[in-house]
Amino acid sequence: MNRTSLCIVATAIGIACATAAAQEAAKPTSPVIKINAAAATDPILTTPLRGPLSMLSGSGGNITVLSGKQGQLMVDAGIAVSRPRIETALAALGKRPIKYLINTHYHWDHTDGNPWVHEDGATIIATAGTVKRVTSTIRVDDWDYTFKPLAAAGVPTEILKADKTYHFDGQTVEVKLLNPSHTDTDLYVIFKEANVASLGDLFWNGVYPFIDNENGGGIDGMIKADDAILAQLKDDVVIVPGHGPVGTKKQLREFRDMLAAIRDNVAALKKQGKSRDEVIAAKPTAKFDDTYGHFVIDPDFFTRIVYDGLK
Ligand SMILES: [Zn+2]
Repeated sequence: MNRTSLCIVATAIGIACATAAAQEAAKPTSPVIKINAAAATDPILTTPLRGPLSMLSGSGGNITVLSGKQGQLMVDAGIAVSRPRIETALAALGKRPIKYLINTHYHWDHTDGNPWVHEDGATIIATAGTVKRVTSTIRVDDWDYTFKPLAAAGVPTEILKADKTYHFDGQTVEVKLLNPSHTDTDLYVIFKEANVASLGDLFWNGVYPFIDNENGGGIDGMIKADDAILAQLKDDVVIVPGHGPVGTKKQLREFRDMLAAIRDNVAALKKQGKSRDEVIAAKPTAKFDDTYGHFVIDPDFFTRIVYDGLK
């Protein structure tokens, strides 16, 4: 879709054409375009988790909400264009305002809504890496897209350099930092009493993940991060993945094992001296494609990500 036709679509769905035109020029191959277009119209679905926790989906990355007497705490903010539908969903869950927003990492489908969530009252918590990246112009060739810095209101102000525990409305909220894995900005969150974990893009439930090789991520770091997370979670934990439906520890383990198996397949082919295109042609993901290969990151794209991420 070129900019003109994007404009027509944007106008048809009630977004000012100037807004669409102001977005960074991207070729129609960019998944960012598809994901933003979906967020502009998709309903926000609320899935109850445990206790005062719910998952909101339909705005890029999944959002976790803890709603109680003190107000609300969110993990990730989705894409800004979903604001009215997310606000309706939050109001249905309970008392405003939003007191805290925790960003699992810098990617736009988790942070683009930061400015409005801050305007609604939230202090934004993130790693120093997330602050650095959301205040920079970032080119991601794998997405064929250049991200502009967030508006100042959306920049996290509580910057974590180590794990930190918060207490909010009866929940112990453990925020845990990770070594470079999906990106070099990652953290995850455990709500201890409810036994719920929000893993951001360290876990894509039932679909191949994106891994941001150009911004510190890599397949080996991703596998190590999932090993570290698995060691922290109880067997009956309820997991909010970055993308896909609510998951279990068993599904996270299967996801981790899929990553490791494909990593080994690609590494063996690479070691034989095969080029990236030859490795893609050898279909090293084939065994897993029926389960994981039907989303934005298709089997060839995922093979390319794994190949490029091998050190
Ligand atoms: Zn991400």
